[in-house]
Amino acid sequence: MTITDLDRCHVWHPFTQAQTAPDAIPIRSAKGIRLYAEDGREFLDLISSWWVNIHGHAHPTIAAAIAHQAHTLEQVIFAGFTHQPAAQLAHELVQRLPAGLTRVFFSDDGSTAVEVALKMALQYWRNHGEGQRTRFLAFEGGYHGDTVGAMSAGKGCGFFDTYGSLLFEVGLLPYPATWDGDTEVEAKEQAALAWLDTYLADHGDTLAAVILEPLIQGSAGMRMCRPAFLQALAARLRAAGILLIFDEVMTGFGRTGAMFASLKAQVTPDIICLSKGLTAGFLPMSVTVASETIYAAFLGDSFDKSLVHGHSFTANPLGCAAALASLQVFEDEQTLAKLPHIEAWHRQGLATLAAHPLVQRVRVMGTIAAFDVVAADTGYTSPIGAQLKAFFHAHGLLLRPLGNVVYLLPPYCVSEAELAHAYATIAIALNTLC
Ligand code: PLP
Repeated sequence: MTITDLDRCHVWHPFTQAQTAPDAIPIRSAKGIRLYAEDGREFLDLISSWWVNIHGHAHPTIAAAIAHQAHTLEQVIFAGFTHQPAAQLAHELVQRLPAGLTRVFFSDDGSTAVEVALKMALQYWRNHGEGQRTRFLAFEGGYHGDTVGAMSAGKGCGFFDTYGSLLFEVGLLPYPATWDGDTEVEAKEQAALAWLDTYLADHGDTLAAVILEPLIQGSAGMRMCRPAFLQALAARLRAAGILLIFDEVMTGFGRTGAMFASLKAQVTPDIICLSKGLTAGFLPMSVTVASETIYAAFLGDSFDKSLVHGHSFTANPLGCAAALASLQVFEDEQTLAKLPHIEAWHRQGLATLAAHPLVQRVRVMGTIAAFDVVAADTGYTSPIGAQLKAFFHAHGLLLRPLGNVVYLLPPYCVSEAELAHAYATIAIALNTLC
């Protein structure tokens, strides 16, 4: 049987309507930005395989670090035991994160990093004797993963209505999404802040935390907001004594042009969630990093006060070794210095599309570029998305529009010529829609 036969018979793919989706494409190997299919085709991976492979595929430094670690210590229980890769990684992350985020809790993926953050926030208040603070606020459109707590926080993205009975109530703040040439951004920001002021006046004393994707909402369609807005929002929460959780699962590790979006926005949250780029896409792992004040609230003489959370593979040494090696690549290749070039190449590419009658709301932040395709049906299920995806696959590009939103989020090893080729192909794809 072929891979496709076996896959058709036995595999259940994520976020896929199997009855109507084309067969999954078998990939044999990958290197840098390129995927090599079993049938000889090549694809440029312009979305870093769901936003994870920040240095490209099969980076030798990271592959070697994992192989070495596998021969030394592949796994050990993380309750009552520790190991060098985990302790070293915690130290290295704290050096790079905004000052004050000092306690690293390991888990497995972006969703569980968010679950941990929500539990930390809830229990922080309970341990403080403010058990009435049980409410959470999130942004309309925000996506935080697909486990139950993360779906609750992300219910504003509209994917999860089917699971409504599993979810807990989360308030939804309006999101002031902006793009190049947006003339209404200030009015949208003022409206969002006014909404928050009213909410705080009514419910501030029962609010535990606000969770948000800083500077850019990913799955909502690469919707960007301005640093000044986040600063104003954070100041209000600080004044009201409410915790701020940043979900940097997508934005972490250079995506916005800075190592973390929180550094770019100059806002330090109380808790931050990181995954995806953490291991440069080699292994599933995540961390939730909290301030010392949060950590201190969990200390005491009863188990009841401690964080009741932990997974079989918590702080898996292979994942930690991969993450340490990825940080080493940032140093060796001076990766952060490359990112402004990627932003400039995006701007050049988008400039070639800007006059197209189907292109609107062009936006760029660091290594992330996006625009909306003018369409009768917008949103994640817009048929334009499937149509464009099929065209891109047929032309050797791994691009996966979010409905009518086309975005590029390439590995940092992408070249100017590769991005220019991608934009030229996108232009042809758009012409097929006219
Ligand atoms: N948070 C954000 C902002 C994300 O973009 C994602 C995934 O796309 C998640 C959380 C969930 O991460 P994972 O898919 O690794 O569970």
